[in-house]
Amino acid sequence: MKLVFERSRSDRGTAYLEKCDLPSALPSEKFARKTPLRLPELPETEVDRHYTELAKQTYGVNSGFYPLGSCTMKYNPQINEEMAALPGFTNIHPLQAEETVKGCRQVCETLEKYLCEITGMDAVTLQPAAGAHGEFTGLLLIKAYHRERGDVKRTKIIVPDSAHGTNPASAAMAGFEVISIASDEHGCVDLEALKAAVGEDTAGLMLTNPNTVGLFDPNILEITRIVHEAGGLCYYDGANLNAVMGIARPGDMGFDVIHVNLHKTFSTPHGGGGPGSGPSGCKQFLARYLPGTGKEGSIGDVRSFGSNFLVAVKALTYILSLGREGIPAAACNAVLNANYMKVKLSDIFPMAYDTVCMHEFVITLEKLKHETGVSALDMAKAMLDFGIHPPTMYFPLIVHEALMVEPTETETKETLDEVIAIFREIFREASENPEQMHEKPVKTPVLRPDEVLAARNPVIRYDFEA
Ligand SMILES: *Cc1c(COP(=O)(O)O)cnc(C)c1O
Repeated sequence: MKLVFERSRSDRGTAYLEKCDLPSALPSEKFARKTPLRLPELPETEVDRHYTELAKQTYGVNSGFYPLGSCTMKYNPQINEEMAALPGFTNIHPLQAEETVKGCRQVCETLEKYLCEITGMDAVTLQPAAGAHGEFTGLLLIKAYHRERGDVKRTKIIVPDSAHGTNPASAAMAGFEVISIASDEHGCVDLEALKAAVGEDTAGLMLTNPNTVGLFDPNILEITRIVHEAGGLCYYDGANLNAVMGIARPGDMGFDVIHVNLHKTFSTPHGGGGPGSGPSGCKQFLARYLPGTGKEGSIGDVRSFGSNFLVAVKALTYILSLGREGIPAAACNAVLNANYMKVKLSDIFPMAYDTVCMHEFVITLEKLKHETGVSALDMAKAMLDFGIHPPTMYFPLIVHEALMVEPTETETKETLDEVIAIFREIFREASENPEQMHEKPVKTPVLRPDEVLAARNPVIRYDFEA
């Protein structure tokens, strides 16, 4: 595809705008450009086609199947966008007097209330702008709690080795030492390892449940009890509540602090860098440490102004439109869809854990790699030629040659059947003709870039000749 600069021609009139009849206001010499601005010159039709072409080359949930495990790339209902576009929500200013934005405050308070109800927490802040930010906020609550009790030797946060990478990173950012514990053969917390890890220096445990291999930990109550008995607090990574919302609550599992990702579970589009929102919640005994309370003991604000407000509008719209029956029904369908795909693939694709899964399942291609040289990366690349987005690759780290599939509740059976057929077809190709798998994809606009080079030296600006 030609770039907009390459399509440009300066010898054709493109001026639509009336001549400006106001005196020009030039910046001071110091700030004035030395060279003219190099804007491309194109007629409107060409500009329109350029952007349409770009849009066609972008893949999103609206284009097709997008099963990124751990990410919940679900379809986000259009009504969310309609609500978030209402002028009463978009034409406000963060410095506006409080009494003139009462409706907006009510949106936030209502959402906080529902998030408390869904998670089993007593208080929520909408401030954190992403999941990792929510983790950081929640960990500061844990820190404030121990500090106020004078229990300053509690400097360690226990994190299972299956955790999302943000967990140890946030714990380190919050000033804790990270203690990693191994998972057991089912991918769940190893109780003996946990018992050995807890002690007088334990500030808390961070856990994802269902965990990142898509399994609900059967020992969850025992786990939170062990941590509490040692004097630590329990942090729940609720980035992805898709399997349990409306069914099981972290608050009832014994967790004290949580975050949820509105841009995963609660249907705000994500990818491309946001905006997201990762509200933090906690039990009553920690509530006064929350940001934005202005109360003594509060950890202070973690961002300027209230929240990524329009994301909150979308989440509330989603929760209200699904309602008390719809929320658990969505969770059930997410689990059903994942298990349907898993069962339909498991005769040829080895599963990392062969039990009933929650919202996602993990394939391990270690054997295929060993026998044919075809890697999880090759398989993922091959999927691009079929016009679907590959699943998450090489995560969780505890599974070798991992493909982690989360179909979500919004896919129809027909789509799942098509995708199952594609997965099977690719597996057949890989077994019969492994060599050509290293060349995939062959039909996409960009074929197979050198991934390291592309990450280290991305070419993201146009290089003008002279
Ligand atoms: C996505 C995710 C996070 C991090 O959320 P961000 O908004 O990307 O910072 C944390 N934990 C889990 C389990 C996740 O899936």
